[in-house]
Amino acid sequence: MSCYIDAFMELFWHSILPHIEIDQIASQTGNPLDNIMAGAFVLVKQGFRLDASTQMRNFVYKNIKELYFPKQPPYEQGNMYDVVDFAMDYMEQASEQFRAMFQYKCSRYNMCFEDTEHCWFMPDDTVRNTPLFITFIPSVVDKFHLSTSSDQSAHAITHLIGYPRLKQQCIYCQKLAYQYKLPHNDPAFVFVIDKLGAVPNRTDNIIFPYIIQLYSQRYQLHAMIHSTSRTGIHYKTTAVIHNNGGCFLACLDNLSKPGITVITENVNEFYFHFSSNHSSLQKKLKII
Ligand SMILES: [Zn+2]
Repeated sequence: MSCYIDAFMELFWHSILPHIEIDQIASQTGNPLDNIMAGAFVLVKQGFRLDASTQMRNFVYKNIKELYFPKQPPYEQGNMYDVVDFAMDYMEQASEQFRAMFQYKCSRYNMCFEDTEHCWFMPDDTVRNTPLFITFIPSVVDKFHLSTSSDQSAHAITHLIGYPRLKQQCIYCQKLAYQYKLPHNDPAFVFVIDKLGAVPNRTDNIIFPYIIQLYSQRYQLHAMIHSTSRTGIHYKTTAVIHNNGGCFLACLDNLSKPGITVITENVNEFYFHFSSNHSSLQKKLKII
């Protein structure tokens, strides 16, 4: 019943921690969650993935009633919890410096029905120091898959995020408009939640890398956590794993042996293809 912790950590080890200075952050902040993350990552890099998982589980169970997870029902050993809830809780309790790795700006977006030129962001930026979680709706993502204009992407993201829209007057022509509070810049990492179960559970059906355009940035699917049933009975992580200058796609499940199953070694081909065509393609999309 610890797979919600394992799956979250596997995603971080393979897709996020290699891209941020977690050692530096942990030594500066002294935050216990930063520290345990950095310490476990050292074990992973030394080849002790299962020891790292054990360390992380013990940390979570030991601290369930302590300061670090104050708002949650306690994460008790032997019980099952939702991986998204756990991910959000964990990141909320990590240090401000750690959360700054995921920060983005938020603004009100004016969507006018009279004139598309009135569809734009209003200048009221507020910085959000929390990771961006958006809801995955495949038909909408596909529709805007190749969009290059930030205007179209803003339309797409209004659907993706599903924030309540406010019926108001357009700030330019006073006709009917909707207003949304939306992320305005390009966060380094985006977490996508598939509430509808639209993404297939079978790993051989998953397209890696899946590219979507949000604003001016292209995001690439790098890892996903999926459950074996809609009730989330068991979580597994599928991730692109970098190794000795190359990379491969594998499914990680620490409660089964051998714990890691290689799905394909051909991920390099995708990566080389895209990196040669899109020099800015460095951002990652995560589905959890
Ligand atoms: Zn207008």
